[in-house]
Amino acid sequence: MGGGVRDILLGLKPKDFDVATDASPEQVKSLFRNCRLIGRRFRLAHILFGREVIEVATFRGHHAQDSAQNVEKKNKQSPSHSSSEGMILRDNVFGSIEEDAIRRDFTVNALYYDIADYSVQDFCDGMSDLNDRLLRMIGDPETRYREDPVRMLRAVRLAIKLDLEIEETSAEPLQALSSLLRDVPSARLWDESHKLFLTGFSEKTFATLEHFHLLQPMLPQMIESLESNNNPRFREFIEAALVNSDSRIRSSKSINPAFLYACFLWQSVKDTVEQYRKDGFQGAEAMQKAQAVVISEQVKSIAIPKRFTQVIREIWLLQHRLEFRRGKNLLSLLGHPRFRAGYDFLLLRASIDEVKQETADWWTEIQEVDLPEQKKMLAAIAPKKRRRRKPNKKPDVN
Ligand code: ATP
Ligand code: MG
Repeated sequence: MGGGVRDILLGLKPKDFDVATDASPEQVKSLFRNCRLIGRRFRLAHILFGREVIEVATFRGHHAQDSAQNVEKKNKQSPSHSSSEGMILRDNVFGSIEEDAIRRDFTVNALYYDIADYSVQDFCDGMSDLNDRLLRMIGDPETRYREDPVRMLRAVRLAIKLDLEIEETSAEPLQALSSLLRDVPSARLWDESHKLFLTGFSEKTFATLEHFHLLQPMLPQMIESLESNNNPRFREFIEAALVNSDSRIRSSKSINPAFLYACFLWQSVKDTVEQYRKDGFQGAEAMQKAQAVVISEQVKSIAIPKRFTQVIREIWLLQHRLEFRRGKNLLSLLGHPRFRAGYDFLLLRASIDEVKQETADWWTEIQEVDLPEQKKMLAAIAPKKRRRRKPNKKPDVN
């Protein structure tokens, strides 16, 4: 069910299979020794087969049209709770397979492969949407987005990943409701942003999210940079970063989420540094302060864990030394744990002429040559000793 059946019918390789059942999590647990119950918002059973985990969910019952009374009747122990904006906070009411289907997000996600007779069960016309390559929200789209605003991000992500078109009435409310994403816990947005930007489709996903104004609540500082005219080439910089990361992922190279965030927030850091400088702070201190301010602002909407914000800062801090190639132990930078990321970042900056291409090339070359050659390269850029100027014969008359 869910993504697995959909992916197979679309001729794609499913990432995982989820299993749905009318047995309660406790019943599932009593059947399998190697079973753990997880989750608060959705209680699920995980059955472990060696390194494989099969996720087993009990059919869920509640949906927006359910009366509170019905919900109470169905399951006294785990009522479903909504916030005043209609957002579902807990969702542990069990129900029938039909009820389970209609509380899923999109019709193509509500297809069930029935192992009893090898048929596909389709309660929401998912098959016909699949044939028409449409991603359609089940029920009233606006209500469903209000229940869980992350569904707006899922709409964009799945449409791009599966090459489907967001059906018209499902797309229509997106822009107007985008600010609802501000109410989503920042930790959930961190998880979701991974799937948006780190699964190989970030370039298209970014453009579509921007089209529907869905980026603003997640990355307000970046949007401000894009919309201000402080750096007309910032968009090019971001696009290059996205293209870069997509191609790395497609060729199975490692990718650190910190790198993209370092890119998204770079212009904000530069603008903030400028501000601090105007307020009289020196270069390094202005930089430290700007970094701290920009990161603490960003983690309000997306909870980037500390170990990644640390990397973001290191990438930014390296820029000055890489760009100006001053100070002692320049060679030791090559062994810096973030050298690679800092260097890749420098290349992106060079691509928009923010750094001289010659500087970027120098760093490319110095990684490839042996020590004597590296020393020559260092000597070649060492600052020349200043020649004493002869005193002016004539006094300046100004
Ligand atoms: P992916 O291929 O990225 O895993 P998926 O559709 O399988 O996509 P999952 O997050 O694995 O996404 O979710 C499994 C299923 O649970 C979905 O197919 C959908 O039916 C349902 N689901 C997930 N998130 C929501 C949500 N926010 N609202 C309603 N149903 C959801
Ligand atoms: Mg899935």
